[in-house]
Amino acid sequence: MNLDIFNKEFARFKKINNLVNNYFASFGVNKKQELIRLIFEISKKEEIPPLKLIKELPQVSFDCLKDYLIKRRFPIASLENQTQRVYLPKIRLNKDSLFKLDKKDFYPKTIIIEKDAYTSSLTQRFIKAFPKAKRILIESLKSYLRCRLPFTIKDYNRRKDVIFIINEKADFFKRCPCTKKAISCGYHIFNLSFGCIFECTYCYLQGYTNSPGIIFSSNLDRFFDLFNAYKKPKMRIGSGEFTDSLMLDHITEYSLEIIDFFRKYPDARFEFKTKSKNIENLLKAKHKGNIVVSWTLSPERIIKENEFFTARLSERVISIERCIQAGYKIGLHFDPVIYFDGWRKEYSNLIEMLFRKIKPKDIAWISIGTLRFNPRLKPIIEARFPHNKILDQELIYGFDNKLRYPSKIRQQIYSYMTRIIYKYSRRIFLYLCMEEQRIWKTIFR
Ligand code: SF4
Repeated sequence: MNLDIFNKEFARFKKINNLVNNYFASFGVNKKQELIRLIFEISKKEEIPPLKLIKELPQVSFDCLKDYLIKRRFPIASLENQTQRVYLPKIRLNKDSLFKLDKKDFYPKTIIIEKDAYTSSLTQRFIKAFPKAKRILIESLKSYLRCRLPFTIKDYNRRKDVIFIINEKADFFKRCPCTKKAISCGYHIFNLSFGCIFECTYCYLQGYTNSPGIIFSSNLDRFFDLFNAYKKPKMRIGSGEFTDSLMLDHITEYSLEIIDFFRKYPDARFEFKTKSKNIENLLKAKHKGNIVVSWTLSPERIIKENEFFTARLSERVISIERCIQAGYKIGLHFDPVIYFDGWRKEYSNLIEMLFRKIKPKDIAWISIGTLRFNPRLKPIIEARFPHNKILDQELIYGFDNKLRYPSKIRQQIYSYMTRIIYKYSRRIFLYLCMEEQRIWKTIFR
């Protein structure tokens, strides 16, 4: 299915490439590349055939032509005088980078185990769960990665074939790095795993991963030994920053041990963040009220188009209700909020549906964050998911040099969503994720 779409987008790109080389033969390579990018994006977004679009273009100098195309492609950014902040990288569509969406149950081909981790109960559980997987013992992940070739998108596409089981040695906890010039929410990361079995089009791990597999730490006891020295008063900490906290919890059983451990730290709040419905261990565990189970939530249409292999919205909502019945506090993350025609209606329907089922007293916190990512992710998303619609919107360099919606759109989204949420309670702990002070001030004034 997405191979057909790849072929369609690749044909569009080739056609535009040829047309630009014919119609604008006198322009240099860089100018042609920018025109190809702009014409490609307009042709895809407006669903207009390349030849028709090129024939419509004004016969003017390169600067005027580029200006015309940018205004057409980024109308809101143009009104905000932000046209110099657009990002026009070379198009790198290539069949090898395409992610094939055929649904298969997760079953790694190889389990690579650090020697020190071999006798751990986590290793034994993975071997039991995947008996046909080949096992390889290594000295350390660090030395194993040293002799690998540079990591490519193709390697990222194959990462689920490999599980690494390691003994974490250095990076047990860290402060969430947030983003430059944003207001931090003061979160801490419990760095237990790295990588994910789900496939979200916007996932930042696509541009951040350099290990050809998903990493799990087997020495949870060492995390616990070190936590006492790390802990801060009333801290919020969670394991869902570089992974989905519960994606394989039926195998890792991390939640059982973590919940038990945090019984000793009632003033800390531990968060499991997920897009799964893998909550059976949570329902068995005895917690002390300081565990928050959080879901990232989006309208079903966004989930269907962008969050492959995750639980559907209805399944996430049922899991929320079951966790509330088991006495957990719930976190709701509207992050990333995706802008599209009709976003108001779909996001208000989502929030209203949630508040029909969840009482404000059961909610520990809600975050809202609009789509943003490092610019180097743009060609990766385009190459892995050529059918994506998220890149059709206006994404320009923001205050932190990440690609973001223009501030007018971000403000509209935040004010609209906070207004609906506050209708249900003004006392909910609501924050904006990775957003600048100026926007916080306008929303929470
Ligand atoms: S669930 Fe989270 S970590 Fe996993 S692919 Fe989606 S965004 Fe990435």
